[in-house]
Amino acid sequence: TAIPNVTLNDGVTMPQLGFGVFQVPDDETKAAVSHALAAGYRSIDTAAAYRNEEAVGHAIAESDVPRDDLFVTTKLWNADQGYDKTLRAFDTSLAKLGLDRLDLYLVHWPTPARGLQVETWKAFAKLLSDGRVRSVGVSNFQPEHLEQLVDATGVVPSVNQVELHPFFNQAALREFHTRHGITTEAWSPLGQGGELLSDRTVAAVAAKHDRTPAQVVLRWHLQLGTVVIPKSVTPARIAENADVFDFALDDEDVAALSGLDTGKRLGPDPDTFNQA
Ligand code: NAD
Repeated sequence: TAIPNVTLNDGVTMPQLGFGVFQVPDDETKAAVSHALAAGYRSIDTAAAYRNEEAVGHAIAESDVPRDDLFVTTKLWNADQGYDKTLRAFDTSLAKLGLDRLDLYLVHWPTPARGLQVETWKAFAKLLSDGRVRSVGVSNFQPEHLEQLVDATGVVPSVNQVELHPFFNQAALREFHTRHGITTEAWSPLGQGGELLSDRTVAAVAAKHDRTPAQVVLRWHLQLGTVVIPKSVTPARIAENADVFDFALDDEDVAALSGLDTGKRLGPDPDTFNQA
């Protein structure tokens, strides 16, 4: 079954399931992305900080999937925030990807102590109005960071990509996004493949549907309306993670998975992460 699209607040459509390549070494990235494209993925999520944009570009160049059928996301690294630096970093990323236009560009982290978000976001608005990117969004932004951008520029991010999985379900932030027309995208949707995938509740839901733990966790996200970008370098898992469109959880399953929230992040806290 084909991967459905979601429509962002700027009218751009984006596949609801894509392929993430964080921590995929440069020399393994081309093969992993090629497997994902062969398995039907059309959206790829990379970042300047992942140091594998060139390998993503090589996989895209070698694939026979038409460019217009692909949705490519990359992210501006913290050290490149600021108006001029953002414009230069965008050119570098696009050249590495071998593309003349990007689908989605994200500010990777707000780094609030550095105070560069608004200048950075003005450069994003310029890239958007110049037609160099189809959609602009952010990552790891808290409500106050989002409000600051909108108040200063009037440009509402299309997407906020945040840590989200059943152990950290971001109920309040998702509600804020809904009110402001921002699409929620989940990073580490599988909880980085750790304890979440061996959790008893997850196993019970998986057994009930005769599916794997990863598949029912991805279904939970999809049924919340979240965009997911699971990562794997193993071809069988890459295919398994995209094979989630021919079954559905019931309300009870969704509630059971939502009930696993611990309130604890696996990754950094955006309010205090200021690394550049
Ligand atoms: P994930 O939740 O996607 O988990 C990936 C891990 O889960 C794999 O390394 C593997 O160990 C395991 N796994 C994957 N499929 C499996 C399966 N079917 N069965 C069993 N185990 C399986 O974690 P992630 O890579 O951290 O997140 C996904 C993507 O999100 C990243 O690749 C990246 O693109 C993005 N991301 C963004 C940020 C950000 O700050 N914006 C931070 C982290 C990740």
